[in-house]
Amino acid sequence: MNEPISDALARLREITQSVAADVVAPEAEAVDAQASWPEAGMSTLRAAGLTGLTAPRKVGGQGQGLLGLATVTEILGRACSSTAMCYGMHCVATAVIAAKATKLQEETYLAPIAAGRHLTTLALSEAGTGAHFFLPETRLARDGGGFTISGEKQFVTNGSRADSYVISTVASSGAREGEFNCLVVDAQTPGLQWGDAWRGLGMRGNESRSLRLDGVRLPISHLLGEEGDQIWYVFEVVAPYFLTAIAATYLGIAQAALDLAIQHLKGRRFSHTGGTLADVEVLQHRVGQLWMGVEKCRLLLQHAAHLGDLGSSNALTAILASKADAANVAVATTNEAMTLCGGMAYRENSTLARLLRDARASHVMSPTTEMLTTWTGRSALGLSLF
Ligand SMILES: Cc1cc2nc3c(=O)[nH]c(=O)nc-3n(C[C@H](O)[C@H](O)[C@H](O)COP(=O)(O)OP(=O)(O)OC[C@H]3O[C@@H](n4cnc5c(N)ncnc54)[C@H](O)[C@@H]3O)c2cc1C
Repeated sequence: MNEPISDALARLREITQSVAADVVAPEAEAVDAQASWPEAGMSTLRAAGLTGLTAPRKVGGQGQGLLGLATVTEILGRACSSTAMCYGMHCVATAVIAAKATKLQEETYLAPIAAGRHLTTLALSEAGTGAHFFLPETRLARDGGGFTISGEKQFVTNGSRADSYVISTVASSGAREGEFNCLVVDAQTPGLQWGDAWRGLGMRGNESRSLRLDGVRLPISHLLGEEGDQIWYVFEVVAPYFLTAIAATYLGIAQAALDLAIQHLKGRRFSHTGGTLADVEVLQHRVGQLWMGVEKCRLLLQHAAHLGDLGSSNALTAILASKADAANVAVATTNEAMTLCGGMAYRENSTLARLLRDARASHVMSPTTEMLTTWTGRSALGLSLF
């Protein structure tokens, strides 16, 4: 940890390390092999009070911001990437609900989340607009005192496992392209139809499913903020929290791959020389390069998160860059570690094989690495992102 952290966050970090070591890491191999949702890890995180991380203190939550999210999610990502993803999406959706919560939304969602009794998640992506998650096509119509929603979401992490879903829709009236609303939909709302679980190459335990909403009716109290708040939500809440959670997950993967490479180089001893791979200068050099990549990635992520928590005008550029950087570092580090760890790592279902497969999702999880790198440049140039 490099940014100074509060005593409260230091305590949460300790609790997370213990949950990660005792429950999350031991479960990782089975979660991947069976493509199963990380039930034990998520239950323990709930019981430890960690699912209240981004819920406000006034409802009993931990009231942590981006640095807290980066810290906790990196530890989980190092232990089990799927658990980190499921946890991260819950924390992001919690932050979206909390941003402009009404009294009713505090009582219905945030207080139970803080108490570890409610899991939520983010359902933004759609097949039609793909990586352009900020362009939903799901329709919202005024219906008496409420709304009717029709459309289909894709890749919903924690799909069918959560108690509520934060979804985006086209604004209900007079909307221009890119204008959308966020709403919270309860799991038991009539009319939700789940597709089969997606079987991924990596991130296999995130229980990603499609969600069809055919004329689903919701009271007006489920709207988050006001109609037309979408730009505020995207830039102030969705992007910073989502990018931080994802970047931290992939940083955790990179660190886990580096740990394995170091462990292998120190432990692998040749019979003909009596020396280890760690004695070979070119391999020391390659480990040095990996270490620099991972450490710089962590510094950028924590710095970006810290700026975001301070409300700095420079935060967005750094936050955009940090997820692109984490994706590049995770893919490069797992790939290089696979070479350094030799034939043992290249076997079917080795831990490194899992990390390499998990890391690959980073580039396609929207906003993609290409989009973020371009947006970082536009932001640095003082241009609008779109
Ligand atoms: C493991 C996993 C978990 C996910 N979890 C969630 C979730 O919890 N909630 C959620 O809402 N979504 C989630 N998603 C969805 C994700 O964020 C993307 O929306 C989805 O992967 C886009 O897939 P696509 O095939 O439609 O991509 P496409 O839109 O077809 O894009 C394919 C590729 O083209 C390139 N590309 C596309 N558009 C551009 C552009 N404008 N500029 C430059 N390059 C571009 C990129 O390389 C991209 O990877 C998840 C996805 C994965 C893989």
